Amino acid sequence: MFKNLIKTFLLTELGKGLRLTLKNFFVKEVTVQYPEERAPQSPRFRGLHALRRYPNGEERCIACKLCEAVCPALAITIESDVDEDGTRRATRYDIDLFKCIYCGFCEEACPVDAIVETRIHEYHMETRGENIMTKDKLLAVGDKYESMIAADRAADAPYR
Ligand code: SF4
Ligand code: SF4
Repeated sequence: MFKNLIKTFLLTELGKGLRLTLKNFFVKEVTVQYPEERAPQSPRFRGLHALRRYPNGEERCIACKLCEAVCPALAITIESDVDEDGTRRATRYDIDLFKCIYCGFCEEACPVDAIVETRIHEYHMETRGENIMTKDKLLAVGDKYESMIAADRAADAPYR
């Protein structure tokens, strides 16, 4: 009690604080001036989803529904049918981004590397319903960013 009173009287805590401030005053700044400056991103970054195609343009997804089954947030809805050539295809593939918790289980479960999470994290919704990523929207993201997705998958391959 008496010790604390002395400390208060001598402003030792204030002195400690000022000493720390002075010490850090000359240290190199670590603040990143976003968006002009960017922090490094891991190739495993789990951002916006995409559906990928093979180099010949064929959709990778075979509608096995493993991603739908493993999704803990029940964010994925798939409907399927058999195509003219006998392959199973998703007639509907929706991801509700409001439900998604970006856990990455869907991409881990996918046997053909069809559904992936990209590095894209700067996106927003302005109207009701935009939170639903339909198959067409997911394929469009995949088509646009395929080179980035492929490079990230290759960089991460040794650790899988
Ligand atoms: S990242 Fe996780 S929560 Fe989001 S759709 Fe995939 S499995 Fe579901
Ligand atoms: S994205 Fe992959 S896991 Fe999901 S239904 Fe298609 S093939 Fe199966």
